Amino acid sequence: MAAGQPRTGAAVADSPGKQPGTPPPALRPADTGLPAPELGEAWRLAREPAPIRHLDAAAAARTSRTVIAAMTDYLLAETTTGAYIALEAAAETLTGGRAVLAGLLDPALTAADVAYHHSASDAFAALVEAWPLPRGARVGVVPSAFASNLLTLQARAVRDGLELVDLPVLADGLIDVDALARGDGPAALSELDLVTFPEVPSQRGTVQPTAAVAALCRDAGVPVLLDVAQSLGQIDVTAAGATGGIAAYVGTSRKWLCGPRGAGFLAVRPEFVDRLAAPSPSGYNSGWQPRQDGRAGGQGGAGPAGTAGTRPSALTDGRIVPAAGMTRFHLGEAPVAAQVGFAAALAELAAAGPALVRERLHALGAAARRRLDGVAGWRIGEDVATPTAIVTLLPPPGLDPAVVRSRLYAEHGVLTTAIGADRARDAVPALRVSPHVYNTLAEVDHLAEALAQVSRQP
Ligand SMILES: *Cc1c(COP(=O)(O)O)cnc(C)c1O
Repeated sequence: MAAGQPRTGAAVADSPGKQPGTPPPALRPADTGLPAPELGEAWRLAREPAPIRHLDAAAAARTSRTVIAAMTDYLLAETTTGAYIALEAAAETLTGGRAVLAGLLDPALTAADVAYHHSASDAFAALVEAWPLPRGARVGVVPSAFASNLLTLQARAVRDGLELVDLPVLADGLIDVDALARGDGPAALSELDLVTFPEVPSQRGTVQPTAAVAALCRDAGVPVLLDVAQSLGQIDVTAAGATGGIAAYVGTSRKWLCGPRGAGFLAVRPEFVDRLAAPSPSGYNSGWQPRQDGRAGGQGGAGPAGTAGTRPSALTDGRIVPAAGMTRFHLGEAPVAAQVGFAAALAELAAAGPALVRERLHALGAAARRRLDGVAGWRIGEDVATPTAIVTLLPPPGLDPAVVRSRLYAEHGVLTTAIGADRARDAVPALRVSPHVYNTLAEVDHLAEALAQVSRQP
């Protein structure tokens, strides 16, 4: 395993999490063997009781009552005090959320280097639009890239004449660090202008050797745009961030960070941000600078030599100037209540201890894989000890994960996701099970029994 990789789930499961000085909490039967049972219990009690078994954090995790209250309080403040006054009053909360994100990502980042956005996909699209990629630039990608992100890259590649090339990967889709270091083939780092990949893909619970790849890219001078939509919250992203090789990050609120829908973020290292354009110029994020060289008229100017250009050319003879730093990504109008809820979720994560959360997630993932592998012929799609709580199950012949997913919900009240082949180039149909720390092994047991029943009565 590459340097900087998180510990394996198995290793974590062997060392139940505890804080020095606190007596060991009484283990609930459902949690025996999992680290941090008190954390699981606290996060369970912090949420509304649910009539379903929610095993779907990789799609959208359960929000806490505190997160919901932060959002409804904010909406009330908008109508009782004025929306812009409410925004001013929430400034500290919002900055606090950005500070937590900075700390989870990269030791070189502060709150000023992080901006809220609508989603990971929109943040990715903004960065790709803003990135300095001249015609002929080459972008290294992976087969596990999220389909929407690939489409964004393809659109810019077609428009601006870029080339997309696959980095070398192993059979499980993980980047082949040795091959990348050797630099053979079309994806030699010396030939690339940008590298981008999801640290944890949506369709499989694997973890890229991000720190090793980031170090190679740093040495080759190739900036990395890292998609942490599935990794932040369950992986120690700072291990890669500390290499200095990641120029920018995108992620989302609603998955492992337990925030609401409708919020995401991007972060850019401070020494890199001034190289980026304003991706969607508006009065919130850009200015206009007329050309200063004394020549009137522009490309469209039809007047004779020596006369002023036409009025339209006067309006176009100049350039867009991005606002300073991350302000160039300012959205203007945005669902502030969702951002406030996201910030509340980040505060809860920071208070719980991100390392303890990760430890429990890894152990839950490993325990779920052990319990579910082989049930009615379903097989797990990643190594049992992979340090994530994304568990994928490959169907036995004749079973469609989409049908099974619907029946698990309708007949047994278990929420999971069916992965389709359209999710990424390397995706295969699978059932995705993704518990968060508030889930219990009893819920995984319930799923195992439901899966056995549904699979045996097609
Ligand atoms: C969910 C996901 C995204 C997109 O996140 P949104 O907030 O829905 O745009 C991007 N990449 C990966 C790996 C994802 O799982």
